[in-house]
Parts: sequence; structure tokens; C-alpha cells
Amino acid sequence: MAKLLPTSTAGSLPKPSWLAQPETLWSPWKLQGEELTEGKQDALRVALNDQRVAGIDIVSDGEQTRQHFVTTFIEHLDGVDFEKRETVRIRNRYDASVPTVVGAVSRPEPVFVEDAKFLRAQTDQPIKWALPGPMTMIDTLYDGHYKSREKLAWEFATILNQEARELQAAGVDIIQFDEPAFNVFFDEVNDWGIAALERAAEGLTCETAVHICYGYGIKANTDWKKTLGHEWRQYEAVFPKLQTSSIDIVSLECQHSHVPMDLIELLRGKKVMVGAIDVATGAIETPEEVADVLRKALQFVDDDKLYPCTNCGMAPLSRNVAQGKLAALSAGAEIVRRELSA
Ligand code: ZN
Repeated sequence: MAKLLPTSTAGSLPKPSWLAQPETLWSPWKLQGEELTEGKQDALRVALNDQRVAGIDIVSDGEQTRQHFVTTFIEHLDGVDFEKRETVRIRNRYDASVPTVVGAVSRPEPVFVEDAKFLRAQTDQPIKWALPGPMTMIDTLYDGHYKSREKLAWEFATILNQEARELQAAGVDIIQFDEPAFNVFFDEVNDWGIAALERAAEGLTCETAVHICYGYGIKANTDWKKTLGHEWRQYEAVFPKLQTSSIDIVSLECQHSHVPMDLIELLRGKKVMVGAIDVATGAIETPEEVADVLRKALQFVDDDKLYPCTNCGMAPLSRNVAQGKLAALSAGAEIVRRELSA
């Protein structure tokens, strides 16, 4: 029987200080050319080893080869001009300088496939690879060509599907689409967002996941969270339709958030990656705190469908804190595993 409560991270881990500025999103690289290529691979090896040492079951690249989870993918596409930048409001929340879509978008060559092969060659553990979701991609650029969020999302979904199929062929076990925008644009999610996501995942035989969260632990997000009241019911708007979708796993945020745990019931039948590690604080959870979140989740999801995870990416944290949190996640899951087998 497969191990119960397999642990994983939402995606990113901090980068080493010789590769990028610590605790900084969108940090420029500190290396160039061949040194950069080698540096990224070394960082990936370190991130993998950190997960292995902490006892994480489903491992990832820690996003060591990307500056940002959305823009690095978009940078590799034709039809997007990175010199031509516009400041737009993203996630309906904060302004960011983003690239412009100037023509038909396409993927001239694979983006992450070589990185995924490199990771696959380093480990026999199950690996998870994160891609941005179509809706989050369109929400992280300025569209001067299609002039339609929906139309552009469908184009991106087609491109993501090409990439996803090649990642699967490279040996990726779980392909995860990151859709923080699902927590903001509820009408669009239900009108076409989930359909576009399913298009991105079409024909995949590996497992598929969607990560929906309240964002990195950066100020714009923590300020936003303060306006959401004491009960966060955003998931309620999108879970019913996700429950009927073809996506296998839903990854969500729980630890220290005000998401009512019973909303998970709306996903019945799906596997659920439950965020049991808060990424908005440098305080390291105790294993017991992690176990407590998992026990609460087990009231609403079967034990063979519960996947302990982090709330979101850990890129902006310090490496020591991230390492401590990974160990806590692992230890907390082990406490609950023992309880389940007792
Ligand atoms: Zn997230």
C-alpha cells in the first residue's frame, strides 16, 4: 500500500545567495552564461537535497531555474515583448510592471523540459512540476493584441498543454498548475477559467493538480488578507466546479489562514493538498501544529486523499526558515500517520 499522507511543497524554495538576492521575488541572477546554467543546476541539486533531508515525499525543483513562477514561462514565448512594459494591477490587488502581448503567442521550444529531465535524473522519488495556469498568466501581463482575457487564456492553455505533455514524457509524476487568480476572479473562473485549465491538462495520463492560494507572504498579500474578514470563503465560489473537473488534485492554503476547513467537503472525491505550513511568517511551526491542521482536514477528506503541503511557495523566506518548515511538515505528517495506523 502506498504511504499515507505523502508530503510536498507548493513549489518554490529559497535560492542560494550566490545565485540570487535572498528573500527577494523577481531577483536578478548573480551569474551569467554558462556559469548561470551550472549555478541553476547546482541550486536545484541543493533544493532537492534539502527536501530529501527533511523527509519530503514528493519532491520538486524548488523553482531554482526560474526568476518567477509566471514571468519565466512567458519569457520563453513568442508574441510577448519583454522590453515593452506596462504597469497593471495584478490579482486586483497590487501594481506590477509586466510585459506586453504584441502578437500571436506561441512556444517556439520547450521551456522547462530540460530542467525536468535533470531533476528526474537526480532522484527516484515522485516529482511534481509547477506551471502557471492560463488565467494567472493573462493576469500577469498587458494584452495589446487579443484584447480579450478569455481568448488569450485559451491560447495559453494550448501552449501549456504542449509543455505539460513533454514534462510528462520527461518523467514528471504530477503536473501542477498555479492559479492564484482563481481566488480573485470568481465569475471568470466559472465561465471559462476551469475550462481553460482542463484544456491545459487535456490528454495527460500523469496526475494533475491545481494550486489555489492567497499568495506569497509579501506585504501586498498580507495587507489584502486583513481585508477579507475572519472567515475566508473565496474557495466556496470555485470548488463546486473544480469538483466536477478533470483535475485530480486541489492544493490549497490552511495553516494560520481563515479558510473554514469544511469547504474541503465541496471537493469530495478529489485528492487535496492541504497547506499546513504558513509562508507569511518566519516562525517555524511545531510538528504538533502541523498535525493539528491535518487532523482537522481529515474530518472532511479521506486519509488516502490527503497530501500535506505548504500554503504557497517559500521563495521569499530565508533558507534556514524554509528548511525548518520542511522538517516540521514532515514530522507533523508522521505524527498523524502513526495515529492513523494505531
Ligand atoms: Zn501559492
